[in-house]
Amino acid sequence: MRKTPPCPLPEETRLVTPCPSLDAESARAEAARCLSTRPCQGCEICQLMCPDQAITRDEASHGPVIDLNYCKGCGLCAHFCPKKAITMELEQAGD
Ligand code: SF4
Ligand code: SF4
Repeated sequence: MRKTPPCPLPEETRLVTPCPSLDAESARAEAARCLSTRPCQGCEICQLMCPDQAITRDEASHGPVIDLNYCKGCGLCAHFCPKKAITMELEQAGD
């Protein structure tokens, strides 16, 4: 079994305190809280992937804003989003 390499930083400069040990139930509750409260992590990968530059960043929420006047529905943004925060919907007649 491979060993985790030691942290190269001097101990006094490490800013992250170790996680408290959690039992299985508490760990599941913590994971659900973290994963469900912020699906978009603001990584901007969707912006980089959009061939039509239809996505901009909302300065208040730091989340993406899609301009449907320019979006052609290719789905690249949804495909490459690491958090699966974008879902595609079929456009209805009259939209
Ligand atoms: S689905 Fe629309 S917003 Fe998403 S990458 Fe394609 S053109 Fe851009
Ligand atoms: S929607 Fe997805 S790809 Fe776009 S900024 Fe959020 S996490 Fe990143």
